[in-house]
Amino acid sequence: MQTGKINVQTENIFPIIKKFLYSDHEIFLRELISNAVDATQKLKALSSMGNVKDELGDLTIEVIADKEKGTLTVRDNGIGMTAEEVDKYINQIAFSGAEEFVKKYKGKSEADAAQLIGHFGLGFYSSFMVSKKVEILTKTYKKGPGSKAVKWECDGSPEYTLTEAEKASRGTEIILHIADDSKEFLEEHRIVDLLKKYCKFLPVPIRFGNEKTWEKVEGEKDDKGNDKYDEIEKPRIINNINPAWKRKPADLTDEDYNNFYRELYPSLFENPLFNIHLNVDYPFNLTGILYFPKVKRNFEVQKEKIQLYSNQVFVTDSVEGIVPDFLTLMHGVLDSPDIPLNVSRSYLQSDSNVKKISNHIMKKVADKLEEIFKNNREDFEKKWDDIRIFIEYGIISEPKFYERAEKFCLLKDTAGKYMTFEEYKNSIKDNQTDKDKKLVYLYTTDTVEQHGFIETATERGYNVLVMDGPIDNHFINTLEQKFENTSFVRVDADVIDKLIRKEEPMPSKLSDEDREKLKPVFEEVAGREHYTVMFESLSETELPVQITRPEFMRRMKDMSMLGGASYMGSLPDSYNLVVNGNHPLISKMNDEKDEESKKVLAKQLVDLAKLSQNLLKGEELTGFIKRSISIIK
Ligand code: ADP
Repeated sequence: MQTGKINVQTENIFPIIKKFLYSDHEIFLRELISNAVDATQKLKALSSMGNVKDELGDLTIEVIADKEKGTLTVRDNGIGMTAEEVDKYINQIAFSGAEEFVKKYKGKSEADAAQLIGHFGLGFYSSFMVSKKVEILTKTYKKGPGSKAVKWECDGSPEYTLTEAEKASRGTEIILHIADDSKEFLEEHRIVDLLKKYCKFLPVPIRFGNEKTWEKVEGEKDDKGNDKYDEIEKPRIINNINPAWKRKPADLTDEDYNNFYRELYPSLFENPLFNIHLNVDYPFNLTGILYFPKVKRNFEVQKEKIQLYSNQVFVTDSVEGIVPDFLTLMHGVLDSPDIPLNVSRSYLQSDSNVKKISNHIMKKVADKLEEIFKNNREDFEKKWDDIRIFIEYGIISEPKFYERAEKFCLLKDTAGKYMTFEEYKNSIKDNQTDKDKKLVYLYTTDTVEQHGFIETATERGYNVLVMDGPIDNHFINTLEQKFENTSFVRVDADVIDKLIRKEEPMPSKLSDEDREKLKPVFEEVAGREHYTVMFESLSETELPVQITRPEFMRRMKDMSMLGGASYMGSLPDSYNLVVNGNHPLISKMNDEKDEESKKVLAKQLVDLAKLSQNLLKGEELTGFIKRSISIIK
């Protein structure tokens, strides 16, 4: 028997391991199973080179919980360790690794430290986060002297013992004597949850006890003539050792991809729109499958996220910094041993490998979108409403993505027609260029509320785009910057002849003096604080009074509302009350001698304009209805 101090020079790190990494204790299981998987993979590699004398046998890794004894065991049939190896790997290398880890993160806040350990670090010694004593029982695959089974034992003080032991078969058993404050890790459901979280796609089968299922009994029927089922118990295997992203795209059907999607997100029922299979080995190693999910119109808080793996071990589902921001709403898996995980987020974002990975993902997404657009435009258009949010977000946030997407990004008009930027420009350039040679894009954010304006514009032969998405405000700003000599105006920003001004305004029937007299009447009935009264000389067939919302102010307000309440957002709405001086009713008003009748007419016209914009409510609406009835009488 050998006893010793693991490391005589340093203070006892065990209490530190235990205390300050409090919130992420559960990862000990991932660490132990990863080691077991490594040991198994190494054995397979050695065997394939002809270096293993024994039969490999069943290589399933077993997790065994024994509530009575208070132990949790991870057992593998991998390469095992000799006494010398235990001394070298466990007492020396692993310990100094753990020691370094602890030193490095001792000064950090608990949250920081937890995040870091969550992304790999402590290895074998993390088992002391949940154990009062740990035993290693191991037997090497090697033959000959020095290959006897050994037992290492340590109770969380720096002293350990190493003795010869009895063990029939090759491999390693890590036996954790679970500490009193960690008894949860003996509960079956807790262990199953943990295994499902971290080990779902590990490359070696992992078994935890048995599970009950129903199996059809061949050739037998029950009394009613239905198929007969028997309840049977079979080993509960946690993982799929050959997940779709590790397989060749050529071997997978659409159904395989959809099935894998469901394996990743059991709670989602809708199939994804399409997927992108990633497979790079130079200059970095990256595999994975990304799915374009069917998203709702709004950004909702998403439970389902992209999962990040390192050699099939689950690491995290927060991929910010690794995946371009606009793609974090996608679903799927990424697997890369080249992403440095035990570093902070800000470091991650500046890492050159990570940047390359992020750019690669962006490029692949653009490739895929372009491919569908080119090969099956009809299908692309069908998917458009679901994918536009990604593409618009990408265009806003990544100049490089814009360069790719400008070829396939679509604009939709009020007739439901989809056009690329170029197609659209060509279709409107003859009719919607104003007298200053500026191309005017008309848009609506609400086809119901802005119906009247849309109709007027279409009657003039103008085209109106539908921009009703949650980020279209920003999107429009970006397009205005990218397109040359172009402005975007919402259909209700002004009367149509002023939005696309092709010639000088027509002569006015009202004199300046007439206007001066009419203006205060309109101001009084409309309310000065919200409405700015202005006179325009429009055609007689245009409405006598219209309410418009100036583009600039409205956009500022919308933008600041998107970014949360602010000074702009709290400003009152500002409207223009546009009086068509050439309309017969305005001439009639102008000629009216009786002040009271003049006011009634003005009020009626203003209320009608408000009504058409859904701005007439409450008392005002009731008054309007009463007045209308008495006028009809
Ligand atoms: P890491 O796995 O990062 O090297 P660990 O502290 O987890 O660090 O483990 C230290 C070493 O102990 C491993 O590198 C390996 O050599 C050895 N080891 C741990 N677990 C096993 C096991 N189940 N079978 C064989 N060797 C093991």
